[in-house]
Amino acid sequence: MRQERALVWFRNDLRLLDHEPLTEAIAKFKTVIPVYIFDSHLFDPSLSHPKLGNYRAQFLIQSVQVLQEALRQLGSDLIVRIGQAAVILPQLAAEWQIKHVYFSEEAAPYEREQEKKLEEAFIRKGISFDSFWQATLCSKKDLPFSIPHLPDVFTKFRVQVERNWNSITPRPAPTQLPPLPEIVQKAVLQNTFPQTPSSIPDQRAAFSGAGGEKAALAHLEKYIWQNEFLATYEETRNGLIGEKYSSKLSAWLALGCISPRFVYAEVKRFEQERIKNKSTYWLIFELLWRDYFRFATLKFGARFFQAGGIKNNPPPTNPNQELIHAWQSGQTGFPFIDANMRELALTGFMSNRGRQNVASFFVHTLQQDWRLGAAWFESQLIDYDPCSNWGNWCYVAGVGNDPRKDRLFNTAAQSERYDTHAEFIKLWCPELNSIPHRYLHRFFEYSETTIRNLGVVLGKDYPKPICTYIHTPL
Ligand SMILES: Cc1cc2nc3c(=O)[nH]c(=O)nc-3n(C[C@H](O)[C@H](O)[C@H](O)COP(=O)(O)OP(=O)(O)OC[C@H]3O[C@@H](n4cnc5c(N)ncnc54)[C@H](O)[C@@H]3O)c2cc1C
Repeated sequence: MRQERALVWFRNDLRLLDHEPLTEAIAKFKTVIPVYIFDSHLFDPSLSHPKLGNYRAQFLIQSVQVLQEALRQLGSDLIVRIGQAAVILPQLAAEWQIKHVYFSEEAAPYEREQEKKLEEAFIRKGISFDSFWQATLCSKKDLPFSIPHLPDVFTKFRVQVERNWNSITPRPAPTQLPPLPEIVQKAVLQNTFPQTPSSIPDQRAAFSGAGGEKAALAHLEKYIWQNEFLATYEETRNGLIGEKYSSKLSAWLALGCISPRFVYAEVKRFEQERIKNKSTYWLIFELLWRDYFRFATLKFGARFFQAGGIKNNPPPTNPNQELIHAWQSGQTGFPFIDANMRELALTGFMSNRGRQNVASFFVHTLQQDWRLGAAWFESQLIDYDPCSNWGNWCYVAGVGNDPRKDRLFNTAAQSERYDTHAEFIKLWCPELNSIPHRYLHRFFEYSETTIRNLGVVLGKDYPKPICTYIHTPL
């Protein structure tokens, strides 16, 4: 056991269970100092809309507070600052005579650039460090190919990974932590958290979980063991309303309040103790999508964030603020799109089915630059994850990892299929309550007079369609 001090920099790994950097640090060093830094880049006032919308900000702040409380209960604490990690961490390290720093690796270019700057600063100051890849289900080092050889199509990735599966055992959470030195205890008093207006939860929200590891573990327990919703996940996952239709683990996974390896271990235990079926497999399948986008972000780096994506064929775009604003605020005159976009703006969450449809509508029907849609999602989604968000947007825009050329959704057909009785539309667009559901999927086909006779005045009660409807048979 080394007598010197080590620092653990928490990033999107706001948990104690299955946390490799923390486990390693306490095994090797007598003194371990946990630190979290809210990146000031998230609050950049020069951006057209904040990178961190209210719901996302609240969930993040809560997750950090919960981590701090958990660390305190084990005898330690959390130092919290706002700023740039590459500046603050070397300063703290010098002030507290830190010899070694532990942290987890990220995949997206901005976060990797942070790591690079930090590592350079540590090397200049003679501080050693270890970084760990721990955000995916499959370990990076166990992949049956190197990152430059990652298959460009998900199915090829999945098949190869499944064929070469390694056992997965999450690390236990520590039961005790070393106390902080006195000088660091004083620094806790200077902890700073960002201020954010508190948003009132909307009763209609499909996801309304609290931030932090404790809520994540309680939710998993309820979803898998108490309610056994996992046993029917494959049939319900395309739902739109309420808590049950999908796991709702994404926000906790995005901030690392729970590790995908722990979710996997629980699914396997459920398969052994209760039932093993297509649904139990399908949750793992979806976690592999998450892995895939993370590895693909490592492979393609900044290209995932550029207009041409990984295909280098930027689609022509014609930025139109009016269309973009109507889409963001759920006022397009297309009920299925508006219902989904209102849900996002009022709760910070949207189903996977909804995300695919509104993204396709933004790119293919409104013909707007997909990156503007992705940036809106980035600010609004509680579960925002750079790899999953930009990777999925690239995919829908036809410039990502999709073997199909054009992923244009027929949103009218999707609305008919997934919201047959228009319950979801009416939940979020109550001004359409008087309209029989069969009119709502293809609302654009009816004249203003027909709609007025059904009790809604277009342009007054509900917007007229903002564009001509374009679709394919998808
Ligand atoms: C345009 C677009 C943007 C998206 N942006 C994000 C994002 O920023 N963050 C995010 O976590 N997911 C994103 N997704 C993926 C997916 O919509 C959400 O993960 C899912 O809806 C979250 O709900 P859930 O946890 O109940 O998912 P479940 O259906 O229960 O799935 C379980 C887990 O698998 C992972 N997963 C499922 N589908 C996908 C997918 N298509 N891509 C990557 N991972 C997946 C998630 O971690 C999810 O929590 C996006 C999808 C689209 C089409």
